[in-house]
Amino acid sequence: MTEYIDADVLIIGGGPAGCSCALYTSRSSLKTYVLDKNPSVGALAITHKIANYPGVSNEVSGSDLLEMMRNQAISYGTTYLRAQVFSLDLSGEHKLVYTPEGVFRSRTIVLATGAMGRTSTLEGEKEFLGRGVSYCATCDAAFYRNEEVLVYGSNQEAVDEALVLAKFAKTVHWVTSGKPSRSTNRVDLLLDLPNVKQSERTKLLSIHGADDGLKYVNLQSIKDNKAYSLDVSGAFLYSTGTLPITDFLHGSIPLRADGGVDVDDNMMTSIPGVWAIGDIRNTPFKQAVVACSDGCIAAMSIDKYLNSRTEFRVDWVHK
Ligand SMILES: Cc1cc2nc3c(=O)[nH]c(=O)nc-3n(C[C@H](O)[C@H](O)[C@H](O)COP(=O)(O)OP(=O)(O)OC[C@H]3O[C@@H](n4cnc5c(N)ncnc54)[C@H](O)[C@@H]3O)c2cc1C
Repeated sequence: MTEYIDADVLIIGGGPAGCSCALYTSRSSLKTYVLDKNPSVGALAITHKIANYPGVSNEVSGSDLLEMMRNQAISYGTTYLRAQVFSLDLSGEHKLVYTPEGVFRSRTIVLATGAMGRTSTLEGEKEFLGRGVSYCATCDAAFYRNEEVLVYGSNQEAVDEALVLAKFAKTVHWVTSGKPSRSTNRVDLLLDLPNVKQSERTKLLSIHGADDGLKYVNLQSIKDNKAYSLDVSGAFLYSTGTLPITDFLHGSIPLRADGGVDVDDNMMTSIPGVWAIGDIRNTPFKQAVVACSDGCIAAMSIDKYLNSRTEFRVDWVHK
């Protein structure tokens, strides 16, 4: 029998939108979980300096500001867990959220995964998605025990996921078109592993396979333009872009043509009990302060929804 982890409010994504929502729902005494795949890969987390968040000095980095938001929500009772959501079941009154860390259950779900999704589609990427192509080593690494795999990308997520893969794969071929930035952590740790081989300044051109899955990828060295093939059975792709991250929804919520999730004035989607906040909405106003505002609106709407209130309740009205 499946064991569920129960919550009043389950927030998927721990960026400014998710953390602000959690701050408000926790302060309303709602049992709140934030599930976040990686606190260093969201849009705010990678922002060097924030100069336009009201009241905050421009010496603050995005990741420091996010840490303050996260800690504030935790101080009011939010449970913050590092977990990547890979699918949902939104059909019942109690919605289910699947992660490698367990299955979570809640009457209310908040989608706050941002818009750092992929924009480019390589030849073969779509065709082999789920059959060798993956964006989640945490979910899929165990399928590649003793196999040759490729990790493509130089951002923090690529490094973290390559470290996960190195525990399983025979060889992790870490391919980057540029150099990882100096703020990327754990690069030395990755490169010290005996089963990690790095190819810098190399582009991934295409992905190839057969009915039974991925077989090889075509690469090209930027230094001398030389193209070559590499035999791998898995290709884990991590290049940042600006598409809303909605792959884990698997079509359970209708998306607009631009990939954004539509909501009403209360940030609720067309599915009762499911809200969407921040950059996942793909509005032209992608700013930290807007994401926080969305989180606040959703939280007050959730409080009303769960407590069958007819009015919104603000916590600055003291008796
Ligand atoms: C380079 C850059 C500079 C910017 N500069 C500024 C600026 O100066 N001022 C400003 O106001 N705004 C700036 N922005 C915009 C601002 O950072 C975003 O609008 C804001 O961070 C959006 O918040 P969010 O919570 O919706 O998404 P994000 O901040 O992207 O957070 C999303 C979170 O969801 C998590 N996640 C994703 N998928 C999953 C999953 N499947 N399971 C669990 N967790 C998941 C991620 O790990 C991440 O922590 C900048 C953005 C970028 C990219």
